[in-house]
Amino acid sequence: MKILLFDIDGTLILSGGAGDRSLTKAFERLYGLQRAMQGIKPAGKTDPAIVREIFVRKLNIEPTDEQIKEVLDVYVECLVDEVKNSKGYRVLPGVHELLEKLDGDRDFLLGLATGNIERGARIKLSRADLWRYFSFGGFGSDSEERDVIVRMAVERGLRLADYDPELVAVIGDTPRDIKAAHDAGVFAVGVATGPYSVDELYNSGAEIAFEDLSDIGDFYKKIKVLSEKWQKTRS
Ligand SMILES: [Mg+2]
Repeated sequence: MKILLFDIDGTLILSGGAGDRSLTKAFERLYGLQRAMQGIKPAGKTDPAIVREIFVRKLNIEPTDEQIKEVLDVYVECLVDEVKNSKGYRVLPGVHELLEKLDGDRDFLLGLATGNIERGARIKLSRADLWRYFSFGGFGSDSEERDVIVRMAVERGLRLADYDPELVAVIGDTPRDIKAAHDAGVFAVGVATGPYSVDELYNSGAEIAFEDLSDIGDFYKKIKVLSEKWQKTRS
């Protein structure tokens, strides 16, 4: 069994700013803060880490867990409509076809490894009916640290694969995904549909990197090579 752990934003979909707008609304409603996301770069960061950054940088508050949770509750409320109405929402090239193919292939086990809290992940993926492909994951609601999230996703996947995988790889669009994968002891596959180029993803250590996920044949071929490498390093 090959376990693939997908990031969401910049990897599977772009929400067209729905996440940013929802967080902005949450801070506006709870703290009267305008333009909370201005100057904040969310790529590769977890939802609770982004919320904490806004508290510290914009409000000069070191937030409690309770305060972070309260913001994220309002965020999720806003996210429902923001995702539904987002004009810029799109599924990235090849994603529908690739997930459909992998889903029908018993060699693969698909999970999520994302900084989104679980409820947010479900809202973002459900608009395009992508949520159903994933049977488990690690989320921003599990931890503020991406490293911990990836480790939890890996552990949950291993349990489902009886601890005998042919490959475990994280697929993500930022160097943060790649570092978290390596820290968790698994391979990293970069995809340049977010803010980083293929070269930048290779330079940050990705075992493989794709421009996008539209060439399913090429994806399968490279995953096969990666899987052979995995089994060689583990035997
Ligand atoms: Mg991402």
